[in-house]
Amino acid sequence: MDIFFSLLQFVPSIWRYIRRWWSFTRPAGNILGPMIDNKKVLRIFIKDFYVHNNTLEEPKLISQEGDVFQFNPNIDKVFAEVEVQGVSLLGNLLGQIGKREKIKIMKMSEGYSLWDTDFFILGAQALKCREFYELMDNCGYSMDEHRITDRDFNQTIEREELYGYGLIIKAEKDGVGNDKKKYGILLGGFGTLGTEAAVYYFCKNIALIEKHVGKHCFSLIVRARIHSGAQSVKMIKEYPLKIYDGTDRICPNCGNRLRKEQKIYSKGLRRNDPIVESDISSKSIKDIYSRPVSASGYGFATKSTNIKQHLSKVPEVALINIKFICDDCGYIDER
Ligand SMILES: [Zn+2]
Repeated sequence: MDIFFSLLQFVPSIWRYIRRWWSFTRPAGNILGPMIDNKKVLRIFIKDFYVHNNTLEEPKLISQEGDVFQFNPNIDKVFAEVEVQGVSLLGNLLGQIGKREKIKIMKMSEGYSLWDTDFFILGAQALKCREFYELMDNCGYSMDEHRITDRDFNQTIEREELYGYGLIIKAEKDGVGNDKKKYGILLGGFGTLGTEAAVYYFCKNIALIEKHVGKHCFSLIVRARIHSGAQSVKMIKEYPLKIYDGTDRICPNCGNRLRKEQKIYSKGLRRNDPIVESDISSKSIKDIYSRPVSASGYGFATKSTNIKQHLSKVPEVALINIKFICDDCGYIDER
């Protein structure tokens, strides 16, 4: 009987463990997938700053503690506060899911040519980030020093003042040779607030994101109010969460990689709406996204589309219908 009662005291903690596994560990694992394998190296790229000629004779770096100032000669690399905070949040998240080994913090100055492991990038406008948008498959948005671009629509995302905008992108890249597919997650934004907001949102809401995207690649935009800081971050409903369920299509006849051709539809926005093909060239992205839809409109996420775009409780819907075409034999895989 004593044994029975002593076992009974473990029931609440076992229950807490299972609940946490279901609501956090499992969904976070779905998003990060093979990235949290402790046998594999995971790189985290952050921007480093070079301090030119920081010598004993002419020190350039000054530290402050209270009203005491000190020169710090002979340090030639520094990191920005936002990136250090980001690495800390990210490391904490990874540790909670069980990724505790083989995490490498990489300076972008030295890591620009490294793409052969899974990785995170903090920041969105560095050279490495621009390469990320070009090199990786399934980047729905991109950013440079002037604008955020919707890559599927080739449209500039309008930004409001008083907000810092951040990007969260999970993308993939085929392995070279016998290597397996690699995954990269970019957390970055306009300026420090955008990056801070993206990292904060990703680390705090990873289970919520997973509810929408599962194991797929995705791209989403978040924003935080300048006067409220990163913790005010929200997903904005004007621009959709993009979910990419697969890009690899091989011609069954020739074995060639198929060429992707995409058309944009606004489809079934209301239950009885006809299917309307939108000419993207004559329509702004907002026209397409901002058409009203009833709750029943969520039925759009059918298997016939390759890219599903939606947000919970948010009515803006656009479909991207993708055809995969073999240029050699004319085979068409219409999804
Ligand atoms: Zn073919």
